[in-house]
This record gives sequence, C-alpha cells and structure tokens, in this order.
Amino acid sequence: MAKKLWNVAIAGATGAVGNQMIECLEERNFPVGRIKYLASERSVGKVLEFRGKPVQVELLDHDAFEGIDIALFSAGGSRSLEFCPSAARAGAVCIDNSSAWRMDPDVPLVVPEVNPDAIAGYTRKGIIANPNCSTIQMVVALKPLHDYATIKRIVVSTYQAVSGTGKKAIDELRIQAGELLNGRPAEAKVYPHRIAFNCLPQIDSFEPNGYTKEEMKMVNETRKIMDSDIRVTATTVRVPVFYSHSESVNIETGKKVTVAQAFELIRKAPGCRLVDDVASRVYPMPCDAAGQDLTFVGRIREDESIENGLNLWIVADNIRKGAATNAVQIAEILIKKYLK
Ligand code: NAP
Repeated sequence: MAKKLWNVAIAGATGAVGNQMIECLEERNFPVGRIKYLASERSVGKVLEFRGKPVQVELLDHDAFEGIDIALFSAGGSRSLEFCPSAARAGAVCIDNSSAWRMDPDVPLVVPEVNPDAIAGYTRKGIIANPNCSTIQMVVALKPLHDYATIKRIVVSTYQAVSGTGKKAIDELRIQAGELLNGRPAEAKVYPHRIAFNCLPQIDSFEPNGYTKEEMKMVNETRKIMDSDIRVTATTVRVPVFYSHSESVNIETGKKVTVAQAFELIRKAPGCRLVDDVASRVYPMPCDAAGQDLTFVGRIREDESIENGLNLWIVADNIRKGAATNAVQIAEILIKKYLK
C-alpha cells in the first residue's frame, strides 16, 4: 500500500524558523503531499524550494488552508491568534511556534521527549503549541532528573542567541559587529541597545513584577509541561551569538543525585547528549550545538550550598530543537498516532 501523504502549510515560511521548518521536513523525510508556503504581502510571489522544486509564496489569509492537513505556524503571535482558528475550521491541525496559545488550557504544550501524550488534547481546538525555545531545551535535559529525584526548584539564567529574534536580528548583529570593527558607530534598530560586543538583560518587554515576558514564559511553560508543583525563577539575557541558546541551570531535588547518577540519567535521556569532560576542557558550546537537533548537557556539579542540588550547563540550537525540529517531531507523532 502506498504511504499516506499529508498536505502541509507553513505560515511564516520566509522567516528564520519557517526556513528551518522547510529543511526539517526535507531532512526527516516527512511524508508531504502538497506543500504551501504562506507569508505577508511583502513576500507574495517570492520563490522558495521544497525538495529541489520551486514553490511560490502565497498570502497568509483565512482561505489559505483548504485541503491542508497540518499547518505549521511561525509568523508571530498576532497572526497565530488570527489565523489558527481558520486553519483548524478548515480541518488542519495547527502546530504553533508563537506564544499565542501556549497557556490556553485547551491547547496542549508539547515537547515530544517530555510529554508526548499531551498531543491527544489537540482535538479540543485543533491547535498544539510549541513551547518557547529556552523552555524546550531546559525541560528536555531536566525531565530524566525530575523523573528520578523530583525537582522542587529551578533557578535558570540564559545566554540567548540573536536568531531567537528572527532574521532582522541576525542581520543587526552582523552589521553592528562590522561597523564597530571598522571604527564606526553601530545603530540599534531591533534591540533597545547595541547587541554586538554586549549583553542585554532584557528579552521581550517587562511585566509589572519586574520580570520580562521571556522569563515568565520559562516559569509558566515549564510548570505546564513538566509539573505544576515546580518552583521556577529565571533571568534571560541576549548575547552576541548567532545560533544556539545556552543556560546555566541550578536545581534542587527531593533526594540526592550524585554527579555519576546525573551523567547516567542524561546519557540515557532521549534527545540529550552528555558533553562533560572538564579535564579535557570538553563542555557544550553554542558553536558546536548550532545545526544539531540534540540538547547538549555538561558542567554537571553538585551544588555544595544545599543538601540536594545540581548545577548544569545546557545548550541547544534555538531554531532547530527550540522551534522547527520540535514542531516537526510533534507532526510526526500526530500522523503516526492520531490522524487518519
Ligand atoms: P522572522 O525571521 O522575523 O520571520 C517572521 C515570519 O512571519 C516571516 O515569514 C514573515 O513574512 C511572517 N510574517 C510577519 N508578518 C506577517 C503578516 N502580517 N502576515 C503574514 N506573515 C507575516 O521570525 P522567526 O524567528 O522566524 O519567528 C517566527 C515566530 O516563531 C515568532 O512567533 C517567534 O516568536 C517564534 N519562535 C521563534 C524562535 C526562534 O528561535 N527564532 C523560537 C521559537 C519560536 P515576511 O517575510 O513576508 O515578512
């Protein structure tokens, strides 16, 4: 019997995440029948490729989803709010990369290595949310430790790449670095301050409690995906790195986890790779994680200031595992287990 093929639309196909979704579908041999690329008026008529064949970009509008089985959204939150319901009404299951639907109780928030069974809840609204990039890599690494020793509290500080802000920010870092190295002033357009040779302790806007939206996403999403009893506090920082987010994570657990036990748990964990040989100066770095789908974990140490605690350093490609790969993995489970 011929393998069933699925019609897929990518809303935001011209963006950083959209481009990566195209590559992921190709690389992972996703059984695509028809592919549709959607974006704003600015991109209509532009030609991208799928498996070596040209595909014209069309306008993202309410009628764009007729005959589509799976709609991958990465066109920003307001577009997801506006167009996911139309796509779902047309019969497509939406997998949304924006933050628009993540905390909706009727929308599952899914990381396949952590809570794949939550996908079943897609029937409520026809929408599945992909978590924030920094949340995804953290829960992939922490899930085996939580299963073993029940994490009580997480303290995380992030070092996030500019590609997390999309194509314009990638250009901004490149241009600013060039200007500064040539002795010219650097103009900040995407971020509130210069990002080249700098760190910005602000990702997204500030909430009344003094935390940024990005920080509160890490708190709320981690609890929705992994365990609502975990206490989480976050500081998120933008750094002048193009691809891959890094995170310094401190956890307090219900029982002791030795470094040797943590090594073993991370070694066996789906989607993780242990990179920890400090004697040889081996640890995860964004330059090595870029272009990969795994979450890299290293610098594992016992926190000597508390009874049951660990420190970890977690690195992953934010555009791949933090966005496109995670979305395509969800689509793979969806067609295998749920869609007919
Ligand atoms: P990006 O590079 O700026 O791309 C934005 C995409 O959205 C482009 O395809 C753009 O089309 C499209 N778009 C913008 N306004 C539109 C409109 N009015 N109508 C239709 N399409 C429109 O941004 P990105 O980094 O790919 O991020 C896209 C989404 O994914 C955001 O919601 C972001 O929060 C989320 N996300 C990003 C990351 C990451 O690491 N970058 C990770 C997780 C989630 P045009 O080319 O026509 O403007």
